[in-house]
Formats: sequence, structure tokens, C-alpha cells
Amino acid sequence: MQRIETDVLVIGAGMAGLTAAARALDLGTSVVVVEKSDTVGGSARFAGYAWTAPGRAVMDEVNPDGDPVLRNALVDGFADGIAWIRALGVHCADSVPVLRYGRGHRFDTNQYIDECRRRVSTGGQLFTGTETLALRTEDGAVTGARVRRPDGTEIEIVSTAVVLATGGFQADGELVAEHIHPRAGEMQVRSNPVSAGAGLRLAENVGAATGMSRSGFYGHLVPTRVPFRDPSDFVALSLYYSEHALLFNLGNRRFTDETLGDHLTAMRLLDQPEARGLLVADERVYREWVLGSYVEGAVAVDKFELTQRRGGRCGIAETLEDFAYLPPEWGYDGAAVAEQIRQVNAAGTAVRPARAHDIAPLDTGPYYIIETCPALTFPFHGIRIDATARVLSAGGGTIPGLFAAGSDAGGLYHHAYAGGIAPALVFGLAAADAAAALPSPHDGTAPAAAST
Ligand SMILES: Cc1cc2nc3c(=O)[nH]c(=O)nc-3n(C[C@H](O)[C@H](O)[C@H](O)COP(=O)(O)OP(=O)(O)OC[C@H]3O[C@@H](n4cnc5c(N)ncnc54)[C@H](O)[C@@H]3O)c2cc1C
Repeated sequence: MQRIETDVLVIGAGMAGLTAAARALDLGTSVVVVEKSDTVGGSARFAGYAWTAPGRAVMDEVNPDGDPVLRNALVDGFADGIAWIRALGVHCADSVPVLRYGRGHRFDTNQYIDECRRRVSTGGQLFTGTETLALRTEDGAVTGARVRRPDGTEIEIVSTAVVLATGGFQADGELVAEHIHPRAGEMQVRSNPVSAGAGLRLAENVGAATGMSRSGFYGHLVPTRVPFRDPSDFVALSLYYSEHALLFNLGNRRFTDETLGDHLTAMRLLDQPEARGLLVADERVYREWVLGSYVEGAVAVDKFELTQRRGGRCGIAETLEDFAYLPPEWGYDGAAVAEQIRQVNAAGTAVRPARAHDIAPLDTGPYYIIETCPALTFPFHGIRIDATARVLSAGGGTIPGLFAAGSDAGGLYHHAYAGGIAPALVFGLAAADAAAALPSPHDGTAPAAAST
């Protein structure tokens, strides 16, 4: 079996993994990156903003049950993360509001990924199409991994540190059902298709602590019965505007405060009968929010027109009376839904939680109705880490030599969300900094550059 020695082995070449790899190279350590897919970038290729809560107080308020150590580390490390992106020569715009409570920077994730890849290809080694079979351990410390190339040959990679960055387990229906919700495996996956829990399993096999189970997921509402055709649908079909609309379950009732955000509504819909509901916008919401961008700079898509064109369940009711003509096979009582809308309109401004805003009445026809369900981007359950991305041991303390970052890590969010790129960036950098500080048993010379 071929054997390679390196300081840092990174498993997964998306946002977190390539960040860790590029930083580790910058710090003068030798790096090997192993990626299962034939291409690098993962879900980061579809993202556009690095954003999170603008300070500890906001993070605590929107994500009170997330691990406080990780919440603070994310907020505190965010500015340095943005500086790192810019230091790589990648343009990162000024900050704009994101999701009402957050702030973030639009940047070209593809340029960033390609720059990191270029650095790894010239300064380290990158193996694509390569599966990780098992982590190597010595005296309780992780010391590398055994991997298999596409041609079947195996390589033993001996390293001082291993960074797990395989992007979560959203592509594994069983893990999703176990850790998110028994019905979560029915959701469409709006992410790269490769992230199927390899990091979690590798970590569990060496005694890592994991959690928090049932802590939810990041995702968005999408039209029911419209399969994603390609990754551009992940954004095009997401009904971000739901925070300005009303959502009714199969019992013809609202069940959540829609104004808290589409990402939270998506989690709550999963708990409702058949995990589907009717999303109703009126003419004003359609004009102002369905046709508009949800974040400054994002391309606007007419979600209603797209749903209609793709054969999704949707329709236009000229008046509230017309709700009585909803197709019976959809399973809703249209008159009852219309009555609920009348009641919201009559109630006017309701008292709402601190981060919410008031629902303006939906009182101007026509009404735009889409039947919706949640789609899954990544789970919040994962490998437990500390502020420097060291993996916690189920038996207490940390597992020497093992780090995790990005969507492989759990505990940061609990039924709340403040960015996916930001934790991949911040904890990817932290993992590299901590890994580079470990004493190296090797001679420190970088292996011959090779990109395969
Ligand atoms: C459509 C869309 C839009 C988004 N927009 C935003 C946004 O604007 N802002 C934001 O903050 N977040 C956004 N996100 C979320 C963000 O992309 C992720 O949170 C982020 O990419 C996570 O980084 P990661 O490195 O953990 O995972 P990824 O970037 O997905 O990388 C994981 C990598 O690991 C590889 N891998 C998987 N299994 C293995 C294995 N066994 N061995 C080796 N490699 C493996 C994968 O192929 C992939 O390359 C968006 C996500 C999607 C899908």
C-alpha cells in the first residue's frame, strides 16, 4: 500500500476543507486533501453570502440554545474570516443586512474555491474521487487515514492532524430520519449530493461526541411536487418570501409565526400533517416580495410563475370568496383558510416576538397560492467541537489530532440559523491554526505537488 506523510490531512474539499487546507499551507505546513467527488467546492459553489449575527447579543437572541462557546467563536472570528477571503484576492463586497437580524458580505464563492484549489494543487496534494475508509489512530490520537483511489488502490496517509469537512449527512436518508425527524428523509435535498455522513461516521468510530440530536436543519420552503432539475433550482424554487405571507396546514390553520423567517418555518412545517401547507400571498406581497430579491444583490425570480410553469400545485384566487374553489384533491378547506385570513386581517397588528415583524393584512386580491413543503440543505446535528475546532470525545476532553469544521460540526445551532458559509470559514481557519500549532513528527518538507 502506498504511504504518504503530511502534517495536515483534510477530508472534504468544500468551503470548510479548502479553507483549512489553504490556511494550513499559508502557515507553512504540508497538506493533503482528499475529496470524494470528482470536483471540489461542494455546496459552497451555490452560495453567495458570508454572513452571520453581527454580535454576540444578536446571536444569543436568535440562537439561544446553540452551544455558547461556538456561538461566540463564530461571531468573534467572522471579521478575521472576511479579511482572510480578501487576503486571497477574492472580492468581498461591503456588508448588507441578511435575514433581518444578520449581516454579511456577498462574495464570489467560485472564485474563492478555485483560488484555494489552486493553492492546494501547487503547494500540497489533492486527491479527488477518493473515499476515506477509516481514520488511523495511535494511543488514542488520530494520526491519518486510509483512503481508496478511483482505481481501487489504497493509500495510507499518516498525518499529525486530520480535519473532517465532508459537509454533513443530508444525502443519507437514514441518518436524516434518525437525527432530524422520522419524516425528514422525504425532503428533497438542496445541497451537493455527496455529503452523506462520512465525517460523522469516521468521528463516531474513534469515539467522538456528537449532537445535538433533533436540533433541526437549515433549509427552505419549496413547492410540493416539483423535483429539482439541477442545482440552480435550489435557489430558484426556494420560497424565501414566506415571511411576508401566511402558511396553513392541512387542518386549515396557521401553526407558526411566519415573520420569523422562511428557514424557521421550513423546520416547523416538517412537524405538521404530511409536512405540507398552503402558502398565501396577496397582490401587494406578490409585487413587493415574490418579485423582489430577498437579499440585496440577489437575482429575483418570480417563484409563482416558475412553480406554475413546472406543474406545481398553485393557483390564483381573485378574492377570498374564491378560495372555496381550491381543488378538493389538495385536501384543504378553502373557505376555512379564507376565514383565517379574514381574522388575521381583522386583528391588525399583533404582539410579536422581538425579532419578528408585523404581518400586514393580506387584503388585496388577487391571492397567489402555492402548496409548499420543506427542503433540506444541511443538518444541525453533527460532530461536537470546541472553539478551535478540536473534536470533543464522548468520554470527555478532546480527541488528539482530530478537527471538524463546516456542516460536519454540530451543536452550533439549535432550531435557529445564522449562516452556513461563516461557520465553515471560521472553524476551517481555526482548525488549520490549531493543527499547524501541533508538534510535527515529520521533517516538515512539503510532499511533491500533485493534483489528481
Ligand atoms: C443553494 C445553496 C445556497 C446557499 N447559500 C448560502 C449563502 O448564501 N450563505 C451561507 O452562509 N450559506 C449558504 N449555503 C450553505 C453553504 O453552502 C454551506 O453551509 C457550506 O458550503 C458548508 O461548507 P462545508 O465545507 O461544510 O460543506 P461543502 O461546502 O458542501 O463541502 C463539503 C465537501 O465534502 C465533500 N465530501 C462529502 N463526502 C465526502 C467524503 N466521504 N470524503 C471526502 N469528501 C467528501 C463534498 O463533495 C464537498 O466537496 C447555501 C447552500 C446551498 C445548497
